[in-house]
Amino acid sequence: MASEQGPVRPRASLLVTGAAQVLTCAARAPDLVGRIERGVVAIGGDRILAAGSAAEVEAAVDTASAQVVDAAGGIVVPGFVDCHTHLVFAGSRVLEYAGRVQGETAASLAARGVPVGISGTARLLRQASSEELLVQAHERLRHMLACGTTTVEAKSGYGLSTAQELRMLEVNAALARSQPVGIVSTLLGAHEFPEDRSREAYIREIVEEMIPEAARRGLARFNDVYCDDGYYTVEESRRILQAGLEHGLKAKIHTDAYSRIGGCALAAELGAVSADHLNHATDEDMASLREAGVAGVVMPGLDFAVGHARPVRARRLLELGVEVALATDMCPGCWLESMPFVIQLACRQYGFAPAQALRAATWGGARALALEDRVGSIEPGKQADLAIFALPTFEDLAYRLGRGRARTVIKDGAVVHADPGA
Ligand SMILES: [Zn+2]
Repeated sequence: MASEQGPVRPRASLLVTGAAQVLTCAARAPDLVGRIERGVVAIGGDRILAAGSAAEVEAAVDTASAQVVDAAGGIVVPGFVDCHTHLVFAGSRVLEYAGRVQGETAASLAARGVPVGISGTARLLRQASSEELLVQAHERLRHMLACGTTTVEAKSGYGLSTAQELRMLEVNAALARSQPVGIVSTLLGAHEFPEDRSREAYIREIVEEMIPEAARRGLARFNDVYCDDGYYTVEESRRILQAGLEHGLKAKIHTDAYSRIGGCALAAELGAVSADHLNHATDEDMASLREAGVAGVVMPGLDFAVGHARPVRARRLLELGVEVALATDMCPGCWLESMPFVIQLACRQYGFAPAQALRAATWGGARALALEDRVGSIEPGKQADLAIFALPTFEDLAYRLGRGRARTVIKDGAVVHADPGA
């Protein structure tokens, strides 16, 4: 029964105070970032209870027994949602990168015995134990968390056989159990073609064995395909994505990175959750994504790492009303853990406003994972995933180049990272 003073206020377990700005990135924020000057966030258990001025939060929530986290004049943002990564892999391709930045070709690198490309990483992965994969991915996740990321999508794609692809997804499941960052698992059997089987034999294996088994064992939420010139054709991609849909795996697509073969139209036709890369996408392609509600995932770090000759026209995506997400594309060809660095690149290289970049790194990422009801903004009922940066304004995230360490990260209502020197 409610008391005579009105309904009982929910009790906060944790209160974030002392912020210069809280950026809620709420669904309908007119300024895109939901800026609250000197805002306060109240958390109950693993959920957000309220965000607003100190007086508004005090009126809505009982804060008497809450643990207090002092933002010390910094900014509070939703934990970043890094919606496109190849987190699990073995070793590195540092020698390839060092050669390529000097203009060395793939053929020359291969002649020197340097592992090159997806098939180079696939060979390294087959030689690595699952324990080794887990340890190496943990190290990357630790850096991602330290830069404010609380949700990471992780794709398979270096196994190129049913057994090895499922092993990668099992590593994702082990990562989800063993550290705080939320892991969203994607099957990407169609990343490349294996060297020991015909094209058709491998596609049949993906459709008839890999997808049904990954779905039956609950190892993946999404099914992805690399639809581009030299990789999977539109017709092959359709077969693979449709097989996933029949088994309850939502569709994602890598497309238009190096050519334009119709991947955006396919994404729209199949109602994919996202279409990723998009360097060659035309206005017509972008409009088709908007009409079908497909999020566009853009990765300025990848354009930077490969010195892409045709950077994504990412501002055009925004102008045409596509829901845009930013991601690291963390992979052996683009070793990038920091979402603040992605925001810095998006502003300088793509001409995003800082507000557009912050929204794309939080709310946009959640949309590209169909998780916008749970993560990506600071709104009542959502997971209490926050990052605090020792910066006076959110625009400083874009401005202070190379800065990216979070002071404090909160995941599911618990402080999981504290870096007083950041
Ligand atoms: Zn990718």
